[in-house]
Amino acid sequence: MSESVASILGLVASNPAIAHAISFSSLSLFIDLIVYLKPILSWSQSPYKFSPPSFLPDNLQTFLASALNISLPICSELWTLLRDVLWLSLPSSKSLSGRVVESLIQFGVRHGIGVYNLYPPTRNCLRTGCKYLRRHAGDQRVLEQPITTNAVYFSREHGPVPAVSHSLRCPQCHARYYPNYWIDSAGDSRTYYEGPTPTAIHVTTHVFIDDNVTANELCHQINKDKAYW
Ligand SMILES: [Zn+2]
Repeated sequence: MSESVASILGLVASNPAIAHAISFSSLSLFIDLIVYLKPILSWSQSPYKFSPPSFLPDNLQTFLASALNISLPICSELWTLLRDVLWLSLPSSKSLSGRVVESLIQFGVRHGIGVYNLYPPTRNCLRTGCKYLRRHAGDQRVLEQPITTNAVYFSREHGPVPAVSHSLRCPQCHARYYPNYWIDSAGDSRTYYEGPTPTAIHVTTHVFIDDNVTANELCHQINKDKAYW
């Protein structure tokens, strides 16, 4: 980790335009946000691509520029400068500091980025018949046609906060995959994923609840729910 920080500082110092445009505090927030939002970056590109995206998605770039109070060109240049070290050296983190939460609420929501951004646990269709026959032969079909849904996430640590739920569709069988389950093309069969209980329980279309929130805490949080969307 400290090696990564030294590399990052060295790269920033090597670029006078960036070094003069961004404070250390903003640089630190940039790193925290990128590390936290890595899943959004991963989902923005093919699962067969393992290098960092060449460019930030438009909404993420605009959000970061606003949160860091820097221009879009500087934000773009900062990503170009640091993308390799951030992608390869710093693992994705689910820890949410108060500063990251505040930035996401204040600047992320308007760009379709929630404090929690929920995706299916798979990039591929789970049905045995949905395999590629030529390119990537034998691999399960990659999900596509994303749809986003704004939601509220009741979290034990941060209370009710805005979230974005992402669903994607199999191009072959047309099943749609949600964070907790998938639904077949006829829409009449909901299948929950195997494995451990998810940390975010999908209660209704627009509501997720952290699995460690107690009923008592939930009652208090519902009274504090704000209209973020
Ligand atoms: Zn399928």
